[in-house]
Amino acid sequence: MTNIASDNPTLAAPPKPPHAESVSSILATIKTSTNTGLDSAEVSRRLAKFGPNTIPSSDTVRWHQVLLRQFTDVLIVILVVAGLVSVAVGEVTDAIVIFAIVLLNGLLGFVQEWKAERSLAALRQMLAPRCRVIRDASEMEIDAAELVPGDIVQIETGDRVPADLRLTRCMNLQIDESALTGESVAVDKSTDSIEATTDLAERTNMAWTGTAATAGRGIGVVVATGQNTEFGRIAKLTETIGRDATPLQQKLSVLGRQLGVAAIVISIVVAVTGWVMGKPMTEMFFTAVSLAVAVVPEGLPAVVTLTLALGVREMVRRKALLRRLRAAESLGSATVICTDKTGTLTQNQMTVQRIWLAAGEVDVTGVGYDPAGHFESAGQKIDFRDRSDLLALLHSGLRCNHARLVKNADGWQPIGEPTESAIVVAAHKAWIDPRQCVEPVAEFSFTSNRKRMTVITQDQGQMIADAKGAPEILLPLCTDILEGQSRRPLTDQDHQNITAAIETMAGRGLRTLAIARRELSASDPCDESAVEDSMTLLGIVGMMDPPRAEVPDAISLAKAAGIRVFMITGDSPVTATAIARQIGLPVDQAVVGGELDAMDDQALGTALAGDVVFARTTPEHKLRIVKLLQSQGHIVGMTGDGVNDAPALKKADIGIAMGKRGTDVAKGAADIVLTDDNFSSIIGAVEEGRRQYDNIQKFVRYLLSSNTGEVVAIFLNILMGGPLLFLPVQILWMNLVTDGLTAVALGLEPSEKNTMYRPPRRPDEPVLTKSGMAMIAALGTYVGLASLWLFHHYLDDADPSSIAIAQTVAFTGIIVVEKINVLNFRSLGAPIWTVGFLSNPWVLLAIGTTISLQIAAVYVPVMQSVLHTVPLSLADWGLIVVVAMPIFVLVEIIKTFAWMRSSTESS
Ligand code: ATP
Repeated sequence: MTNIASDNPTLAAPPKPPHAESVSSILATIKTSTNTGLDSAEVSRRLAKFGPNTIPSSDTVRWHQVLLRQFTDVLIVILVVAGLVSVAVGEVTDAIVIFAIVLLNGLLGFVQEWKAERSLAALRQMLAPRCRVIRDASEMEIDAAELVPGDIVQIETGDRVPADLRLTRCMNLQIDESALTGESVAVDKSTDSIEATTDLAERTNMAWTGTAATAGRGIGVVVATGQNTEFGRIAKLTETIGRDATPLQQKLSVLGRQLGVAAIVISIVVAVTGWVMGKPMTEMFFTAVSLAVAVVPEGLPAVVTLTLALGVREMVRRKALLRRLRAAESLGSATVICTDKTGTLTQNQMTVQRIWLAAGEVDVTGVGYDPAGHFESAGQKIDFRDRSDLLALLHSGLRCNHARLVKNADGWQPIGEPTESAIVVAAHKAWIDPRQCVEPVAEFSFTSNRKRMTVITQDQGQMIADAKGAPEILLPLCTDILEGQSRRPLTDQDHQNITAAIETMAGRGLRTLAIARRELSASDPCDESAVEDSMTLLGIVGMMDPPRAEVPDAISLAKAAGIRVFMITGDSPVTATAIARQIGLPVDQAVVGGELDAMDDQALGTALAGDVVFARTTPEHKLRIVKLLQSQGHIVGMTGDGVNDAPALKKADIGIAMGKRGTDVAKGAADIVLTDDNFSSIIGAVEEGRRQYDNIQKFVRYLLSSNTGEVVAIFLNILMGGPLLFLPVQILWMNLVTDGLTAVALGLEPSEKNTMYRPPRRPDEPVLTKSGMAMIAALGTYVGLASLWLFHHYLDDADPSSIAIAQTVAFTGIIVVEKINVLNFRSLGAPIWTVGFLSNPWVLLAIGTTISLQIAAVYVPVMQSVLHTVPLSLADWGLIVVVAMPIFVLVEIIKTFAWMRSSTESS
């Protein structure tokens, strides 16, 4: 390992590698202190010296690669050949135009794809990991990229290790090093120095970049960053956004390939037929090229990529960071969302409202994290100094706690977990100074499987274990109870009283937590099962976590969208049911973890068919529920925040991690990360996913209907024995320049009114549904026939010069018809007046721009010679508009009838 001292001549070279040094000597070598950390000036110096703590991503795409990609298409090869043949037959202008259009198309594609790459890169930046360090003698959160050797880093359960650390303090710290060593069993960590020759996998006092803490907590000093870390050296870790093509992109590329083959076959057949029928060879060659160009929707891949990238930005605005592009599509077809309760459906703002004590219940006043408030009994303020049982409970709750309360310009802010912060606030209300608490000597951390936490401290020679946890977990571990000042054995009556108190609190939606303690003797073994036993119950705390105001609307929107919502929480069934009812989630049955274990798949399937909430669950239950729902054909979204949630998040079709309270491990396993941890954002993201899919369908259908029109016109014209209808350059112009712009604009359509009022899309639904194909065929035929009619209307067999005007009218006509036709695709089913004519100004702008370009193509001399056009009269334009309008008017009439019929049916 490269470490600071060997890299930095100003610091003494270490005699040994970091794992072989003692904690004090490594700190001295690296010139830092665990209490104060580095100061800002030293951090800047070291940052300049060692560079940022990042490992260059191996899949960073360079601009020239994207540019090159634009010119490696079969179509481009066809065009280049056409260009060369043009030169050979003396059509130099045509050749120049073809090459220019190839270049322009490449540049347009490059701009679109590069824009897409940039927005993915920006997203990657937002997903950059953060970590907690001590600097300038205070604790702060920074971007992991800013870490320097000598920084003091705090690690807790679920954190990804941000740099290579020599551990200086460990409390039951276990680290999953599988990402580095392949060993799947988590390693117990300690701070003792070990032999210099010890293998990497056995260096128990080190924590390596990219590995993740699965239990406990620890502190370590950074000994290597960025490429100097073990991970950096093997450069395996790239925290990137999955770039793999989405299912839709894959289907589209298959479609593209099929069309490519069709293009070549059609072109050859047509060219040979024409030639056999006596047409000149060169004319047939150019007809074949025109046809090939007409069949393939050239702009499609770039438009899809750009739309997905713009969609990523829109998702960010809606508080969902996509880690995999495909998640947007899956979101669009989600049929079930499994969500946890605390923090997702609720505000995660806990306030202790009631405390049950054997000597009598106490109410706590005050709101949120402001420590202003007092204690009451039967509506009367009480002096907490008279209640030693209350003080004992609060002291215990404070010792078994990692949260702190700080006051800044925005008022009182909690640092740490809300459940724990709420206890700190309650202790403040009794004027207990948290600084009185002594440092813990050991800890059995909270996990959602254990549902409890115990901390051992040593105070004036006495070892004390303080515990808090879910009442039904902690109560069985208690043998005694504190009543007033005295401790006595727990009786059946106590159990009844406690159960009744918990039911009452939970029935009001309060989250309940039992607090217990035990005095340990020096001879007691320091293991979990021995310590968490024979404890004395101090009381039960009830805390309020109000539902988020926007959640009820999101729940009813999910229902309208045909999405079922299941609450799967670690909290108690009574609290879960109370909160579910408050947010409008119907509940017929609350199934707790134990009951779930006893159910076979059939019974669970039956429960899932009803209105059920799952309570007191563990992450394993989540995994089972996901699997079962998927086996029933559901597309499942699953939320999670803990380390153990990772398997369920990975298994789900859409793993959703919480950005604020989620662990790095959960975020790493998820497909999307919610920046505000809010359930409503999931539903917002579903709507956005549906919008994107709809829009992709809209422009795919639009582009294909244009291409169909071109093929129909050229093909029928050949059958009719007409002269060359469109020149290759004209087809390139209509496909690449004018259609590309309108397709991008269609990708920006806002979501339709019914987007969330229709059932989810079947995931196996083909890109082109039957109705989609019918629409393409019908509208394409109209486009083709319209321009063919215009061509033959102007063609005068007696006057060979009429071909120029006929070609120009047909060419302009097809572009105008195609532009009017765009309006038909603004909505897949609804008439335009229900969508709003002006609701997507981009489409109008694109139509305006392309028509202006066509006007220029017809009147600007240079463009006339390039595109082989002649000027048109006003009457010509009038006829074109008359021929074009029915494509919109007829479809509108049909859509209006269908819309009115479906509205009467649904009402
Ligand atoms: P959700 O799964 O909806 O987020 P939750 O936060 O209640 O709900 P868990 O975090 O698994 O689920 O907590 C389960 C139970 O464990 C809680 O109801 C509470 O009684 C107890 N608990 C929660 N946090 C702590 C903690 N820091 N220390 C001890 N016990 C805790």
